[in-house]
Amino acid sequence: MVGEAGDDSMMHAASFVPRRRIVIDRALLGRPRELARILYHEVFHFVWARLGNPLRQSYERILRREWIQGARGDLGWSAELRKLDLDGRSPWNRERRRWADYVCESFCDSAAWFCLGARGSHPEWTLKPRFRRQRRRWFQAADVLPRLQL
Ligand SMILES: [Zn+2]
Repeated sequence: MVGEAGDDSMMHAASFVPRRRIVIDRALLGRPRELARILYHEVFHFVWARLGNPLRQSYERILRREWIQGARGDLGWSAELRKLDLDGRSPWNRERRRWADYVCESFCDSAAWFCLGARGSHPEWTLKPRFRRQRRRWFQAADVLPRLQL
């Protein structure tokens, strides 16, 4: 199960990947764009599970580069919370589990942002534009959307 913290720190949705099930908060039904953002995030947990190591490692390299360049923020609170939990040099060597959780959540948040057009603003989209451009290019090149077929 993967729980998500939303802008009000409430749990909005959860994915149960092995059972192929997503549960969402009914209050989201009246907020279609936010519902889409959160559902995309949840659906991409299933994509991440099937992505394969080459693409996962390729995405992780983007995040390592960002980390080395001092990028702050992310493209969703779920990723940013985990990012804030990391510190120092090369957390991928010292805090493997937490780093892996961050990479996964960042992938799902970034995929949701990408699916919403990778433009506009949202209080949870705090990553600087130059890093957003790199992520957008990655999603364009990786062509992960066909993997949405479960
Ligand atoms: Zn998640």
